[in-house]
Amino acid sequence: MSEDLRTQGSVDTRAKGVSRRAFLGGAALGAAGAWGLSRGLERFGEDPARPPQLYEYYVDNFWFEGAGLESLELTPPLKGTHKADIVIIGGGFTGLSSAYHLSRRFGDKKIVLLEGACCGYGASGRNGGFVDAGIPGLMDYVKEHGPEAGRKAFDASLYGVGQIRELAKDHGVECDFEENGMLEAAIGEEHAKALEEHQETYRSMGLTADLIQGKDLEAEIRSPRYTAGLKFPYGGIVNPAKLAQGMKALVERNGVEIRERTVVMDVKPGKQHRIVTEMGEISAPVLVLGLNGYSHKLGLFVNRVMPLCSYVIATEPLSKAQWEAIGWQNRQGVADMRVLFDYQRPTLDGRIVVGGSDYPYYANDGLSSGNYEPVIDLLTKSLFTTFPQLEGLRIDHAWGGTMGFTLDFVPSVGVMGEYDNIFYGVAYNGEGVAFAQTAGRIITELMTGERSELSDLFVVNHRMPYMGPAGTRILFARLYKAYLERFGGKTVR
Ligand SMILES: Cc1cc2nc3c(=O)[nH]c(=O)nc-3n(C[C@H](O)[C@H](O)[C@H](O)COP(=O)(O)OP(=O)(O)OC[C@H]3O[C@@H](n4cnc5c(N)ncnc54)[C@H](O)[C@@H]3O)c2cc1C
Repeated sequence: MSEDLRTQGSVDTRAKGVSRRAFLGGAALGAAGAWGLSRGLERFGEDPARPPQLYEYYVDNFWFEGAGLESLELTPPLKGTHKADIVIIGGGFTGLSSAYHLSRRFGDKKIVLLEGACCGYGASGRNGGFVDAGIPGLMDYVKEHGPEAGRKAFDASLYGVGQIRELAKDHGVECDFEENGMLEAAIGEEHAKALEEHQETYRSMGLTADLIQGKDLEAEIRSPRYTAGLKFPYGGIVNPAKLAQGMKALVERNGVEIRERTVVMDVKPGKQHRIVTEMGEISAPVLVLGLNGYSHKLGLFVNRVMPLCSYVIATEPLSKAQWEAIGWQNRQGVADMRVLFDYQRPTLDGRIVVGGSDYPYYANDGLSSGNYEPVIDLLTKSLFTTFPQLEGLRIDHAWGGTMGFTLDFVPSVGVMGEYDNIFYGVAYNGEGVAFAQTAGRIITELMTGERSELSDLFVVNHRMPYMGPAGTRILFARLYKAYLERFGGKTVR
């Protein structure tokens, strides 16, 4: 593995204040490592050669259930020696959106996607399902580069939202997509002031954002916790596992060969890359990496992309009276503004899905456990603080996943390698559902040499800052979190 592949990026850390984003970097740094529940996902555990660190966890994921992942037919693993024109590693949104755009652009090429478990098994099938309009690092970017540049960046994220709309409407991808906008919710004065600033920034970019309080806020959501909200007409919610499965079927129809249960063990880069899997190998002149929070397991982006975990709960379905009591009639995703913020949203069958409250970093870049009780408890408490009207509601599911973060909170989508033939999209800093769709398009443009505003975006070939060796991070994480909890006041939890 070349040095370039392992450590893409330069040492370019920018100082930040204690903002939510700053914390997530710190929480990157956060929380003690609990080695997770090891009940084993039996379907993937059949091969003793499978590296246990990737797939040992049972995942009680409501989205997986809704997408029928438990009984789904998986594609056969790669066995023997093969050749392709393009190999994609990772069957999450980055890999699948790359497969989608590349298959449309290169109908005559052999494109093979390798996925260790099943498509959507990683963060893509486990997230909160917020189809966020907005790009990680946007507020800072606008401060530095002005509203015009900010608007271009925002439009790049809207491209991802539009892509999901198109997949759902025009390509038969059934994913329960509801384009209901978003609500940023303030807990206390300090947050309300920050919302005013956000509103100004959005408006400076020519975007709509309405600050609401009192009766207007109650008309959107009834919670004694929230003091103000910023209503935003862009973005929506989706069942992410269904989206991944629908995209899998679509790209297969477009001629992409998908190999699930195919864990890549090693990548030997060159003019012809050699990709070694558990049971075979494949060579190709072009490689696409869609591994995000798992990248370091293959020695990629080590000490540039930090695996950070998030956990989610899903309640039982609410009764009509319970929905009326909380008045959440417009069904938009809601996120509060604390450093350790919560995100919550309704599901199509009337449940509430809540995630956040803490974002553990596990020692030595450990992956997320299937679920993690301390965070699940925080989420449950937080749900009933937000909606005391729902006290006693049952929690039916709890799960978690791993995502990639950078120190400056900016993702990177680009091309690297001695022969400029390794394309990648990584580190969406917790906002990858829509943006990974944009990344797939950018990857295709970089490969074809076509240019658009997307391929000129600031994330393209962004050099991710070095974040120090994994071994020291857990200590820094604990210190930083202790500092925040001592001095961060209500903005933290
Ligand atoms: C709990 C949680 C909540 C989140 N909530 C939101 C949200 O509401 N909105 C939002 O925008 N973003 C959210 N995110 C972030 C978002 O899910 C990710 O940014 C996005 O899904 C990343 O997609 P990806 O394809 O790059 O990576 P992944 O989806 O992680 O895909 C990587 C794939 O690579 C496979 N893989 C790994 N190693 C190997 C190997 N050696 N060989 C073969 N295959 C391998 C994995 O099985 C996996 O399927 C959340 C993330 C989590 C964990």
